[in-house]
Amino acid sequence: MAAKEKILLSACLAGHHIRYNGSDKSCTSNLLQQWRNEGRLITHCPELAAGLATPRLSAEMVNGQGIDMLNGRAQMMESDGRDVTQPYVLAAWLALQTAQNHGCRFAIMTDGSPTCGSQNVYDGSFSGAKVPGEGVAVALLRQHGIEVFSEHQLDALRRRLAEVEGR
Ligand code: SF4
Repeated sequence: MAAKEKILLSACLAGHHIRYNGSDKSCTSNLLQQWRNEGRLITHCPELAAGLATPRLSAEMVNGQGIDMLNGRAQMMESDGRDVTQPYVLAAWLALQTAQNHGCRFAIMTDGSPTCGSQNVYDGSFSGAKVPGEGVAVALLRQHGIEVFSEHQLDALRRRLAEVEGR
């Protein structure tokens, strides 16, 4: 039988109170618990790793999304108008480094985040509106072949793991 695949996990989904407003996004799915028991999960917060504090101002991407940030065409702005592109790009690279160090080919990332969002992100207007798209860490992970799922797609990840592990 193939070795069990490691999965990078957004730390706020594991219950850590590290989001911009000091809250968590605890995910209580049985699947996640099973993967934790199997030793698959590598828990990581890209923003904390990059030195950002909790709490911190909310941030949204403007002039594009994650891939555009990596290409220097979009920026990350805090709600007070400060450009924080640099630490957020660093956050993306640290997420990739962590995934690669642990041999993760899969990730479960918190949707909606400008860093970890994989299905939807906020539209840059700070009005609460979301658009389909991905954050900066997810864009970099996917560029390097890591398959990213949101916390709403755990069943799809379960099927994918069964495929690659030959079960
Ligand atoms: S950067 Fe990702 S892991 Fe960290 S608090 Fe934001 S969504 Fe959660």
